[in-house]
Amino acid sequence: MPYHGPMNARVSPWMDDELAIFRDAASRFIETEMVPNEESWRKQQHVGREIWRKAGETGLLCTDVPVEYGGVGGDFRHEAVLYEELARRGLSGFGQGVHSICAHYLVNHGTEDQKHRLLPRMASGELIGAIGMTEPAAGSDLQGIRTRAIRDGDDYVVNGSKIFITNGYLSGLIALVVKTQPAEGAKGTSILMVETAALAGFRVGRILDKMGMKSQDTAELFFENVRVPAANLLGGAEGKGFYQLMGDLPYERALIAVVGVAAMEGALAETIKYVKERKAFGKSIAEFQNTKFKLAELATKTRIARVFVDECIARIVAGTLDTVTASMAKYWVTDMQQEVLDECVQLHGGYGYMNEYLVCRMFADARVQRIYGGTNEIMKELISRSL
Ligand SMILES: Cc1cc2nc3c(=O)[nH]c(=O)nc-3n(C[C@H](O)[C@H](O)[C@H](O)COP(=O)(O)OP(=O)(O)OC[C@H]3O[C@@H](n4cnc5c(N)ncnc54)[C@H](O)[C@@H]3O)c2cc1C
Repeated sequence: MPYHGPMNARVSPWMDDELAIFRDAASRFIETEMVPNEESWRKQQHVGREIWRKAGETGLLCTDVPVEYGGVGGDFRHEAVLYEELARRGLSGFGQGVHSICAHYLVNHGTEDQKHRLLPRMASGELIGAIGMTEPAAGSDLQGIRTRAIRDGDDYVVNGSKIFITNGYLSGLIALVVKTQPAEGAKGTSILMVETAALAGFRVGRILDKMGMKSQDTAELFFENVRVPAANLLGGAEGKGFYQLMGDLPYERALIAVVGVAAMEGALAETIKYVKERKAFGKSIAEFQNTKFKLAELATKTRIARVFVDECIARIVAGTLDTVTASMAKYWVTDMQQEVLDECVQLHGGYGYMNEYLVCRMFADARVQRIYGGTNEIMKELISRSL
């Protein structure tokens, strides 16, 4: 069923009738195809490829990619609707956000050949996208990456490894950040679009055992003398990697904030329902003044976050969201997400600590929101530079 919790008392100003129909279709798909499978996905640590194909067939992938490249031809609002419907239900295994960011690198920086060759297969779910930036010795300080891609004839020869890669196990296409001129910093960095099927020298390591996001196939990737056609160098020119990465930062950070506020909304709705049903000392938990005040605080924090995120969504659609504002949203909303989820767990008592309860899983999922996509400390660093 579509979400009809109390937070929907505020209808986002960017919603319209077409998006409402799209939201209904997305939530029906999520309820029938994803929710019943989540338990087995958590056990196997990935969602499998079939659901990606089904999502593609249903028109839920690459919603903001132009139709001429096989996409749905919508805009960021369509993506936001999907992230919201997943996050409100605590479904963090299906790495749609990273898939969309990977597609965006192609849309914004790819050559026409790359767009036509790769995007339709991403939209159909045949190719699942990943982004390979982080390495064991380089996370926040991305200039320190060591994965090299050295030109040899019509190929690049890639050596190195990546860690913490979302969709890493299932992925068929990795936007891989490499050094094409290892002696240089940012200027020596490029992005290779690496197709992984039957790729000699490429190996997926462990699916990592995480605190939360149990059904997400976050993995290690290894490259040993892997030959990637030079035709897959993003944009066709070396040394543009950092510039290409920077261009999409507002999109990525807004996306994380959308997920954050939707998780807050979902958890709050669930908690309100729970405290009304649960009894202690002869009355419902909801009747204690502490519960009422806590819920009032959570609803207020959630509403403020929603207003800010709605503004960011509208500005992405208008093409005016700047990196500093997006960094503010990423840092503040995800900090708030964790505060809200912590209180939701507390109001559930011992049940809030049990994985079978939604707020427990959402609490564990929330923690990483402050770490990935650039840590919240890095967000503050960026914001402070603009002041
Ligand atoms: C579940 C999950 C999924 C992920 N998905 C992806 C993915 O798909 N692709 C990908 O490439 N990466 C991914 N990452 C990696 C993630 O982006 C990095 O973990 C993150 O950027 C931090 O890098 P790090 O882990 O190396 O920490 P470090 O950079 O070592 O940071 C450690 C601590 O130092 C702080 N710190 C670092 N520099 C500064 C500074 N200048 N000022 C103040 N404090 C600082 C950090 O904020 C942090 O608190 C994922 C991580 C996780 C956990």
